[in-house]
Amino acid sequence: MRIVLASSNSGKIAEFKAYLEGYEVLSYGEIMKPFEIEEYGKSFKENAIIKSRAVFQRLNDKNAVVLSDDSGISVPLLGGIPGIYSARFAGKDANAQKNLQLLVQKLKETGVEKTGAFYTAAIAISTDKGDFSVHGWMHGEAVTNPKGSNGFGYDPMFIPRGFDKTLGELPKSVKEQFSHRSRALKLALILLKTLIKDKK
Ligand code: IMP
Repeated sequence: MRIVLASSNSGKIAEFKAYLEGYEVLSYGEIMKPFEIEEYGKSFKENAIIKSRAVFQRLNDKNAVVLSDDSGISVPLLGGIPGIYSARFAGKDANAQKNLQLLVQKLKETGVEKTGAFYTAAIAISTDKGDFSVHGWMHGEAVTNPKGSNGFGYDPMFIPRGFDKTLGELPKSVKEQFSHRSRALKLALILLKTLIKDKK
């Protein structure tokens, strides 16, 4: 049983492969030419399903199991931004640094030094039985003085609940214990086992 990942993000692919040890896991780029998937959904869940369904349809293999993830950070004080737009927050030429700087600037404009924030990860699985999804969340605070270089994206400006350091300062192994993606993956694994059993 092959599990195909509907992602070309090398960081995510490595994380998924490590988590799905024991399964044959391939990124879709290893079996076909990567193609543009427009993320027109209005939620993490919709976007994750758009990605896994698009790859499932292109594979044209009823036995395929395709997995995808859509994730981001939300700041309630700022109305929930950047949310599903986390990867492209700073516009057309967005990159991790520009996105982080823009969020820090927006926070500073409100006059606070820190405020509640949370990461969301939606994982979708598409098979011939349909599209399924699970979520994971990590709560904490967004701060205006980013610190550290561990992790990626907004991690230097995020302090997880129960800690006094940012994810940029904390080791990867600590983040993995309770991250939004790890939590969603734990549930996705249960779903996967059920779907795969059904195929035998
Ligand atoms: P996606 O690839 O469309 O799901 O976008 C994910 C974006 O959300 C990333 O580019 C980051 O900006 C942000 N993001 C998601 N998860 C994390 C995380 O664990 N740390 C930092 N940023 C994250």
